[in-house]
Amino acid sequence: MFGLGHLPNLLHNMGIWPRLVLVISFGFLIFFTVFGLLSIRMVNDSTRRILEERQVLTQMAASEIDGLLSQAFHELEKATTFARFDPQAANLEEEYHMLAHTYGRIGAFSLGVYFYDATGKVILAEPYDAGVIGSIHSAKSHIHNVIESGDRSISAPFVESRSGAPAVALTIPIRDEQGQLISMLSGIIDLSSSSIRRPFEQALNLGHTGHAEVVDSQGNVIISTYPGVFLKPGEHVSFYRKMMAEGMIGVETVPYEHSEGTGETMHVMAFVPLTMADWGVSIGGDAKETFAPAVNLRNSIFLLGGLMLVIIVAATLIGTRHLVHPVKVLTRSAQDIAEGDLATAIQISEGGEIGVLGRSLEEMRVRLKNSIDEIQSWNIKLEEKVKGRTKELEQMMEEVSKLHAMRELDRMKSEFISSISHELRTPLGFITGYVTTLLRSEVPHSEETRREFLQIIKEESEKLLGLVENLLDTSRIQAGSFTVEKKPINIAELARKVVEKVKSITDSYSLLLSFEPSLPSVLGDSQRLEQVLHNLMDNAIKYSPHGSQITISGEMRDDHIQISVADEGQGIPQAELGKIFNAFYRISGSNAQRVRGAGLGLTICKAIVEAHGGSIWAENAQGKGNVFCFTLSLEEVA
Ligand code: ADP
Repeated sequence: MFGLGHLPNLLHNMGIWPRLVLVISFGFLIFFTVFGLLSIRMVNDSTRRILEERQVLTQMAASEIDGLLSQAFHELEKATTFARFDPQAANLEEEYHMLAHTYGRIGAFSLGVYFYDATGKVILAEPYDAGVIGSIHSAKSHIHNVIESGDRSISAPFVESRSGAPAVALTIPIRDEQGQLISMLSGIIDLSSSSIRRPFEQALNLGHTGHAEVVDSQGNVIISTYPGVFLKPGEHVSFYRKMMAEGMIGVETVPYEHSEGTGETMHVMAFVPLTMADWGVSIGGDAKETFAPAVNLRNSIFLLGGLMLVIIVAATLIGTRHLVHPVKVLTRSAQDIAEGDLATAIQISEGGEIGVLGRSLEEMRVRLKNSIDEIQSWNIKLEEKVKGRTKELEQMMEEVSKLHAMRELDRMKSEFISSISHELRTPLGFITGYVTTLLRSEVPHSEETRREFLQIIKEESEKLLGLVENLLDTSRIQAGSFTVEKKPINIAELARKVVEKVKSITDSYSLLLSFEPSLPSVLGDSQRLEQVLHNLMDNAIKYSPHGSQITISGEMRDDHIQISVADEGQGIPQAELGKIFNAFYRISGSNAQRVRGAGLGLTICKAIVEAHGGSIWAENAQGKGNVFCFTLSLEEVA
């Protein structure tokens, strides 16, 4: 799961553009949160102000009606100060005059003024109505109330019979000096008169749905901005009854309860109870219309906020992209430089820090390119120089090696001449010596001595002949004209023959033959192969101490026969093993030097073996001495 702990890491790995957008968005989020809260506050304030205005309007209307009723009572009271209103008085001229005055003076009692005695009987009436004078009105609630309580009273609303207008009667008690109720004065107010209705006219200014009602304690209409609803239940009768019962001032959104109404419609109604009567004033209008300013304000704020959001988001995206673009170009260019592209120029038309950065990077690229170009030209020059010097060196080396080869040739020539001279001189010296001795006539030689001398001369001549043969073979080898004549031969038999020959010459060594029985015949030049075996055995004898053992063995190996001659001599240094097969090569500084030889035996052996398709080599034996091995291929078997 993605945890909050990863947030710094995520931010760290983000590109500069999303990072900028994120930071700016965060700022705007805070801005819009504050903007939103302020907007809500503004809308709420606006709503509250609307409701307060409605309530104040209703309170004003209520106090105006209260004022009218109070004024009306005051008029009645005032009339009693100018006349005694004693029904027992003989002359009621003054009372009649005051009645006419009160009826005519103000509009409040436009439907009439009545003078009752203490029992509720009509004494006088203005305007004069003969049918009414003398009739008893004690059954009327407001007359009855005054008789009962002795206090002034306002009647329940009623339809005035003469004019058919909605009316209400205000009655005050009149007392004598002892405080006894002697009579009552009652005025009828026309509830449809303009003075009463004027406070409501303001409700109509509230809008299309603005209306007002004065209701009694049961919620029935006393005065309304709607016609024909007198004494019918008010539009919001439940609300009126509740407010009347609790004597509360307030504003509420309440359902429209008219019998013909939709029931869905809600009205915002303010309610204020009157102080002068058991009535209440309610002013209001349709909720939608009432709250329209607040709703409009809210919608405007939303629209403005949305518009701002869109503009800000677009401006942020475009602005940051515009800001980040050169940075991205610089990053790409830096990567290109890091990857080795120094040819493309960095194009930055920006000013400010980014411009400085771009120009510095471009300067760095140019310098780097110049340095690399310079280094490359140095390299080319250097390479050319190295090539020239190498050529010179090669030429010098060639000359040196030529010189060396010439010197080596000279050395070999002189070595060859001295070696061959020595090898030729020794037998020739013997021969000359013995021949000279034999030719001396003054010294008599026995027959036996003569034979012995002639035998030595023969052996030395043979050695001389052998040496010359070897020299001839070597020259053939070097000329590439060395050949062998192959016939089927038994190699074991050949070896046995050579051993026999050697044994006849010397018995100072123990010669051992070890051939696998039934070795197959091979195709070979028997004379030459005998020469090989003889040379190897001769070397073994020459370079091994007396009494040591020399073993000649033969065995099958895969597709060839391997013949080995092992001795117990002092051995050959490892480094010399490969060289001893070269013509005239002899190991220097050893006992071998004291043994006679021209360094040709092994060379001839190698040429013979290779002419048979085999190979020859020397190894140091495990204990002491050497083993010389050569192979003969079985493919040659007849
Ligand atoms: P050489 O006539 O001198 O014997 P070879 O070609 O036969 O010439 O031998 C070359 C050299 O190899 C010899 O001079 C000798 O030093 C060394 N050599 C050959 N065979 C043996 C051996 N069996 N033991 C030690 N050294 C040997």
